[in-house]
Amino acid sequence: MIKDFIQLLFPRICASCDLNLQESEEVICLNCLHELPLTYDHETNENSIQKALRGRLQIENSSSLLYFEKAGIVQALIHDLKYRGNQKISNYLGGWHAELLKSVNWHKSIEAIVPIPVSKNRLKKRGFNQVQGYAEAFAEIFKVPLVEDVLWRASTNSTQVFKSRLARTEVTNKNYHAKNLDKIEGKHILILDDLMTTGATIEACGNVLKEAKNLKISVATMAIVA
Ligand SMILES: [Zn+2]
Repeated sequence: MIKDFIQLLFPRICASCDLNLQESEEVICLNCLHELPLTYDHETNENSIQKALRGRLQIENSSSLLYFEKAGIVQALIHDLKYRGNQKISNYLGGWHAELLKSVNWHKSIEAIVPIPVSKNRLKKRGFNQVQGYAEAFAEIFKVPLVEDVLWRASTNSTQVFKSRLARTEVTNKNYHAKNLDKIEGKHILILDDLMTTGATIEACGNVLKEAKNLKISVATMAIVA
């Protein structure tokens, strides 16, 4: 009865379809889980992120867990995470993705996890960084440090949505700053983000971090635009 009462106060619902979760289900119901469009890019070596960043940022390896489509199941998940505060999704996807990547050799050379930060303003509004749980899961499963104080993001100005991709890249570059770079010098780091679209964010962050000597960068994201 207490369980029913708790269920009433804090309903355990699927992050994608909003139906009640069964006791054995966590975060996403089994039906939705089966429908999630996994990229399996760690098996095929397709490496879409690397391709997208060619000529813009040199990276070693990359992987995205899911394909993102507008009005799709993955969009519902990311929306729930970012705008309805369902932070469990972040950690859940991180645990899943990191376990999958344990089957590829390059994961063994990763020495630090660097999540893409959000600005102070955004953090205040949203209350959390949506990549945090994802990054914590990677750090735990790969048994490497989570480095959160090398990158920071200045608050953006709202006019940037109207600029071209090139102009936007420049603005974004200015918005990301690096510090404490001695923490990652000579290392192979894994940069993590929620959604890979044009790659402008990862390019900007990678380029400021590359001020660190002999840095190697790999990238993982929860989803990539299909
Ligand atoms: Zn569901």
